[in-house]
Amino acid sequence: MRTAEELAGKKVIALTFDDGPNTGVTNEILDVVEEYGIKASFFVIGQNINDETATAMQRAHSLGCEINSHSFTHSDMTKLSADEIKDEMDRTAELIYNYVGEHPKFFRPPYISVSPELYAAIDLPFISGIGCNDWEDKVSVEKRVKFLTEKCTEGEIVLLHDQPTNEKTAEAVRQAVPKMLEDGFEFVTLSELFIAKGITPAADREIIYSYATESGWK
Ligand SMILES: [Zn+2]
Repeated sequence: MRTAEELAGKKVIALTFDDGPNTGVTNEILDVVEEYGIKASFFVIGQNINDETATAMQRAHSLGCEINSHSFTHSDMTKLSADEIKDEMDRTAELIYNYVGEHPKFFRPPYISVSPELYAAIDLPFISGIGCNDWEDKVSVEKRVKFLTEKCTEGEIVLLHDQPTNEKTAEAVRQAVPKMLEDGFEFVTLSELFIAKGITPAADREIIYSYATESGWK
């Protein structure tokens, strides 16, 4: 992880990917990460993790990417009991730890569905982000590239998906990353984004971050 000094003055941005891991699209995104030596963060679903898919998660981790939690079953967690929420979090964290040796540092609620009870039950900072509806197949590769290269800004958390059928996002990332590098962007993990901005992400109040700012918003 880079320090505040190393990141000082850089045009930082955090690419994040939800709904993996899998051996297809996750690896296609990691091919780009590896080729350009950039960092990203992955919000994995616990029930998607097995010996086969974990190889992509381990590869991400070995490339300096961050593995975070997107729950175990991808349910609307505002409808679950406190015990069920704890179970979702514990099972996912344990699987991540068993395969990559680190605990998740951030949580992205499925469907960005939150409640006071959910905030109280989970002891990690909540992360949202800015996306382009990339879970919808009808959003073309061109539109996704345009979103990344023209709409995304410094300090932003970019919300994308690496679910198994989402070849379009893998292709958009392949096309957009070299352009964004030319534009001076520095791709960092979520932890690094907060370090670069001098913000300590809060886990003890009702806040969900789309930018690394005090308010979580721009
Ligand atoms: Zn999701």
